[in-house]
Amino acid sequence: MEKNSTLISIQAAQALVLKYSSVTSVIVEMDLCNALDYVLAINVISEIDMPPFRQAAMDGYAFSISSAITYTVVAEIKAGDNANPILKEGEAVRIFTGAPVPTTANAVIMQEKVAIQGHKMTVQMPLVVEMNIRPKGSQIKRGAMALAKGTKIKGAHIGFLASIGITKVSVYAKPSIAIVVTGNELKAAGTPLEYGEIYESNGTMLSAVLQELGYLKTSIITVADDYDQTKTTLKEAIQVHDIVLVTGGVSVGDYDFVGKALKAIGVEEIFYKVKQKPGKPLFFGKMGSVSIFGLPGNPAAALSCFYIYVYPLLKKGEGATNTQLLSIFMPITSDYDVKGDRAQFLKAQIEEDGVQILEGQSSAFAGSFGAANALVFIPEHTPKIKKGERVKTILLPIK
Ligand code: AMP
Ligand code: MG
Repeated sequence: MEKNSTLISIQAAQALVLKYSSVTSVIVEMDLCNALDYVLAINVISEIDMPPFRQAAMDGYAFSISSAITYTVVAEIKAGDNANPILKEGEAVRIFTGAPVPTTANAVIMQEKVAIQGHKMTVQMPLVVEMNIRPKGSQIKRGAMALAKGTKIKGAHIGFLASIGITKVSVYAKPSIAIVVTGNELKAAGTPLEYGEIYESNGTMLSAVLQELGYLKTSIITVADDYDQTKTTLKEAIQVHDIVLVTGGVSVGDYDFVGKALKAIGVEEIFYKVKQKPGKPLFFGKMGSVSIFGLPGNPAAALSCFYIYVYPLLKKGEGATNTQLLSIFMPITSDYDVKGDRAQFLKAQIEEDGVQILEGQSSAFAGSFGAANALVFIPEHTPKIKKGERVKTILLPIK
């Protein structure tokens, strides 16, 4: 065994992933409308006051408060009107939500709180200076920061930035990710299975999960259990991608060539074994700036390891401030007998009264992942968990 191949803890493995990953240096300018799910690389500063003028917050009447309670309505201002009439004492304008309030007015009264007779408007409530007027720049002032670097851009952010006239944003480029699936037994869906074959699903699954997280630059590459082919394929994948996720062939069976091939092409091994279930053999290595993961072949195990190790790397790469998935302690909804001594991640579903560990925990079963919205983390040497005990529940970033 080489020095690095010792069995390390989950915490140590997660720390190494973060230590050996960095924020991408590639910053791209992008149209705001295409920036959903990208992370802002440069603070956005507002170039305007929002609202850009004193704005009526109600449909009603604008006037300057005086000792009178009855005012003469002399004009009308709708949203979008470019009017600023000079009101004399005792005069009011009919005004609508979003319209500019005349400079000479200091109150807007809502239409439900006045009595109207011809051109006369009588106020029927106490008045307060600047009531129902949104001050210029009250949402954001010109020169103030609208959105901070490191923010993952969501729909509401796009709306807000659009409201202050932003059309382009600078964001971190998304990595290009290769998913290399290994195994002689793998067949593409759409063709009948021969005896001994199974349908390839890791590539399809990881690519979809990456898409769900906003990473669209993925390619699925298939390779047989053959040392030379594995070497060539991995070398090519590392040359043209930022991240390479390999599934299967990572343990030490006679036909598991991933570890040997990665070593032969010069990938630096950061760790190869983690004290956990699933995913005891789990490779993480670097070649220049490229990160390479050797994930388990079993689909559910591959996906668990993806969320625990690959997700933080992706988050760090895009400059996010929080790299780990959010976890909370929740009561478990029924007793659970833990199998084995290793620390483990179990597919689970958060319900109203706690978290339920799902049936079908086999690493080979991807189906139960569909029902999961969390992973429960069980520390090593935990024999049994009683109903109501609080367990660390890792929230999955699913839509
Ligand atoms: P391995 O790690 O290569 O020994 O694979 C472990 C198990 O996962 C085996 O039963 C494989 O057939 C299965 N497996 C490996 N790769 C895939 C894949 N891409 N899609 C579905 N199952 C896979
Ligand atoms: Mg295999």
